[in-house]
Amino acid sequence: MDDYALVLNAGSSSLKFCVFGRPPGESWHLEARGQIEGIGTAPRLSAKGANGESLAKQDVAVRDAHEALDALAAWLRSKYDRSRLLGVGHRVVHGGARFNGPTILNTEILHELQQLVPLAPLHQPYNLAAIEAVFDRLPGVPQVACFDTSFHRGQPEVAELIPLPRELRQQGLQRYGFHGISYEYIASVLPQGAPEIADGRVIVAHLGSGSSLCALKKRKSVDSTLGFTALDGLCMGTRPGALDPGVVLHLFQSLKLSATEVETLLYKKSGLLGISGISNDMRDLLGRSEPSARLAVDYFVYRAAKEIGSLSAALGGIDALVFTAGIGENSPEIRKRICESSAWLGIELDEAANAACHPKISTTGSKPSVWVIPTNEELMIARHTGSLLGLAKAA
Ligand code: ADP
Repeated sequence: MDDYALVLNAGSSSLKFCVFGRPPGESWHLEARGQIEGIGTAPRLSAKGANGESLAKQDVAVRDAHEALDALAAWLRSKYDRSRLLGVGHRVVHGGARFNGPTILNTEILHELQQLVPLAPLHQPYNLAAIEAVFDRLPGVPQVACFDTSFHRGQPEVAELIPLPRELRQQGLQRYGFHGISYEYIASVLPQGAPEIADGRVIVAHLGSGSSLCALKKRKSVDSTLGFTALDGLCMGTRPGALDPGVVLHLFQSLKLSATEVETLLYKKSGLLGISGISNDMRDLLGRSEPSARLAVDYFVYRAAKEIGSLSAALGGIDALVFTAGIGENSPEIRKRICESSAWLGIELDEAANAACHPKISTTGSKPSVWVIPTNEELMIARHTGSLLGLAKAA
């Protein structure tokens, strides 16, 4: 293989990775995708090639981010012996107000990003631990951070505002928005994949374990449903989405829950899981007949449709709705139900196209049109890593 770039997405118990090759004069293409799962319990490295063929399935001795990187580096050396690692691109969930684009990392920037850990306690510490591990174990390899918040910078002031006193806002209390790498990728493919809507008003629905909507005007983010943290907006797998802040006061003041208990409740026990008491996984819930599973799905659809209405108002009307991510790309049923609830906007679904997950799934008469466009956050990170490090022209 040619020299390659590595894309890392580090979580609390897993290190997901993608290997992108760069044949001379060509754009980045995926060579392998894999993960080390079960870090701290029963760690296992698995990887597949670009066509889904298995490249690795092995137990590894890994207790933390450093050892996970050691295991991955050893596997990469065994597999791509003659190739050079050109750079590492990381998904970093929070870039705060300062980082409004991908950034070449150094230890000062790493320190600055550590200050944002309280704003994304489930992701940021693990994202940063992987960066530290690369500095430590692969010191000569340049690193780039791509932030889930960056794409949303430049939103109108009112969209970013949290209406608390100025002293608090000056300390960074504002709406940041997330899933920005996914939205940036979708925006980047609209001119080729859906030229008729590329310059219009588009709502992108990123529906996965975490879910949000983004309002695009001419491919720029003008509003989104996630805010200061990744708890706002839509109902998610284990997060509730928008919540009356009085509920949180009640949890502290009347129920005497500790900060850690409230954090766990909000990040890990609510949303689809909390409502159903069965699962945080949409596919599971769609296959169940219990009333609580149905209620969880009903609420998910209700909230998505309601927020589509809200962002339509922010945009002054919409030209298109785009579905993406795990649920958005793979569930005709959820798309159908959200579109039915949004029929008042003029949306009309083409049932056959929806069942087949065609890129365009609305009838010719539907205004707005509706689309399914797979996201590719890893490719977006590889492109940024390549262009920032001067490795190749953007793919
Ligand atoms: P993440 O990357 O945040 O872990 P994904 O974007 O992979 O999340 O989305 C995971 C969600 O997608 C899960 O709730 C899963 O059940 C759902 N999903 C995947 N395939 C389907 C499907 N065919 N039908 C319904 N839901 C699906």
